[in-house]
Amino acid sequence: MEKNVIEQVFGTDVFNDDRMREKLPKDVYKSWKKTLESGADLDTDIANAVAHAMKEWALDRGATHYTHWFQPMTGVTAEKHDSFLSPATDSRPVLVFSGKELIKGEPDASSFPSGGLRATFEARGYTAWDCTSPAFLREDAAGVTLCIPTAFCSYTGEALDKKTPLLRSMEAISKQAVRILKLFGYNDVKKVSCSVGPEQEYFLVDRDKYLQRKDLIFTGRTLFGAPAPKGQELDDHYFGTIKERVAAFMKDLNIELWKLGVLSKTQHNEVAPAQHEMAPIFATANISTDHNQLVMEVMKKVAKRHNLECLLHEKPFAGVNGSGKHNNWSIVTDTGINLLDPGKKPHENTVFLLFLAAVIKAVDNNAELLRLSASNPGNDHRLGANEAPPAIISIFLGEQLEDVIEQIVKGDASSSIQGSQLDTGVHVLPVIRKDATDRNRTSPFAFTGNKFEFRMLGSSLSIAGPNFTLNAIVADALQDFADELENSGNFETDVKELIKKTIIEHKKVIFNGDGYSDDWIAEAERRGLPNIKSMVEAIPYLVCDKTVKLFERQNVLNKVELESRAEINYEIYSKTINIEAKTMADMAGKQYIPSIINYVKSLADSINSIKAASSEADISVQTNLLNKCSSLLAKTQKALANLEKVTAEAANKEEGKEQATFFKEVVFAAMEELRAPVDELEMIVDQEYWPVPTYGDLLFEV
Ligand code: ADP
Ligand code: MG
Repeated sequence: MEKNVIEQVFGTDVFNDDRMREKLPKDVYKSWKKTLESGADLDTDIANAVAHAMKEWALDRGATHYTHWFQPMTGVTAEKHDSFLSPATDSRPVLVFSGKELIKGEPDASSFPSGGLRATFEARGYTAWDCTSPAFLREDAAGVTLCIPTAFCSYTGEALDKKTPLLRSMEAISKQAVRILKLFGYNDVKKVSCSVGPEQEYFLVDRDKYLQRKDLIFTGRTLFGAPAPKGQELDDHYFGTIKERVAAFMKDLNIELWKLGVLSKTQHNEVAPAQHEMAPIFATANISTDHNQLVMEVMKKVAKRHNLECLLHEKPFAGVNGSGKHNNWSIVTDTGINLLDPGKKPHENTVFLLFLAAVIKAVDNNAELLRLSASNPGNDHRLGANEAPPAIISIFLGEQLEDVIEQIVKGDASSSIQGSQLDTGVHVLPVIRKDATDRNRTSPFAFTGNKFEFRMLGSSLSIAGPNFTLNAIVADALQDFADELENSGNFETDVKELIKKTIIEHKKVIFNGDGYSDDWIAEAERRGLPNIKSMVEAIPYLVCDKTVKLFERQNVLNKVELESRAEINYEIYSKTINIEAKTMADMAGKQYIPSIINYVKSLADSINSIKAASSEADISVQTNLLNKCSSLLAKTQKALANLEKVTAEAANKEEGKEQATFFKEVVFAAMEELRAPVDELEMIVDQEYWPVPTYGDLLFEV
């Protein structure tokens, strides 16, 4: 029988464990596994052997080049390709790939954002192999390339990327969790890791139409556009039947992802027209981060094959939902226990309750940081608006845990609410059990059975930042707990006391109601929870004293690294808005205004010819339209001039906070002012004259 396509293709482009076992001498493979498990430094001989095996495999598959694939602060991935070719003694080429080349690379790093960490004249940066994430092959027009996941650091060892702090944070949380577990007698646990499953939302639009919109090309979102007559109000797209063209894309996407070992699992239509989602099965945090970068890259690539364009921007279209990424996160031991699994009787599960208390404490103490970790310029359009979680960080626990927590606060927990049978009222339907807790879709940080779902992330964001933040803050809470409990004279009593004390202190961050309601905003304010409206306002929390101490204590980022990241964040914000402003000016000046002038002229011509033909004809429609368009045209021109003026002013502001704030407060407002009259004109101008595809064309004609 022929194999199923998943079995045929899964992992074929990955140098995974099976392949290592097959290609490496037995003893080398064993030492390699040992190194991996212990986290010890990699021996040169082993590195050489792995490099050799990797090369043989890649060459067999037709690879000509290899690359150290890394994740600089741009949020996208970077790579520089080298061929396997080496100088030969005779005229024949020799193909070489040594252990040294596998573990270390040296891209010229001067043009990556470093936030002042590296002067251009000190351009050295190193990439170091992350041997816990498997190498893979990428096939494209350049041929086949062996891609080696790496971390990227400066000459003096500072992290220049998103991966290094993530790997550091994984060690931090492991160390502290192992300490805690020892106290409970789990002496066999050597390592704890975080599992992450990111759900990815995206839009697909027709590529020919996309290419007619400079705003989509340059900024990833529409900067102009009147609403289509239909939006998402009928809820008929959500989970709806998938259109043929989109289905063909999804099929291809799955195959490409499966080849790369990405466990692509779920696909469906999302709320907005032309919006979809893909969710993989969770994996260890660093692999999941690599995979999510691949997912975004492959989505873009595969879309083009179908003459579609994949939009990963958080808010490609005003008036309909934007896109996010749900980051499902849990902590598991190397012996296979999910520490966030409450089991049937959470009230008796002290290990679970202690880890839960750590998460609650971590989130409450560091809400600002979490909020920042989910921010990018695009996500400012969503957070706090009525479609994404509010910008206020709170935790949803659900009925069952909420009840346990209440009991703990009052004294001692002695029971857990159990799931019951679902009554559908229909006899032919099978009996199903319902979960002890319903879902909550409005919470930014929701407990969902055996994991937390951090729902604030923007769709285009690298998940490295949110996860290293989460790992670091939870590690820090666990460290406090371990410090306290290791000195305890009576562990049983003290651990319960600690859980109770922590919950009482941090209970204010728990909220099980509707996160979209106005009542909640007022209530959150009463509770003293931060409500940070924008990315620019969140950035300072990256360098405040509390954050620096925490990240340094956990060895995730030091002060200099944090300061550089704050700079980069300001810079990214300013540059993004600057590009948007310039794109708007370009479109208004070269496309909208000339087209509207043409239309106005056609109205004037028509009025004149009618007048010439008859002095009695009613020309009020044409005249009204002419007047209305002319007045909106004048408004457009004025707003354009203002936008150009303030954008030029922004360039003279001091880089960093001052400039970013100016972009947010002044330039962004000027952009809105320019958009308004153009969108109004779009509703009245003859479509023959309209220079770009409309929302209707983009959202409904895939
Ligand atoms: P939703 O109902 O939230 O849309 P999905 O099934 O689409 O749920 O996505 C849930 C995501 O959570 C998947 O990526 C899944 O693999 C992941 N997930 C499930 N269990 C865990 C876990 N223990 N730790 C981390 N992620 C998990
Ligand atoms: Mg979800």
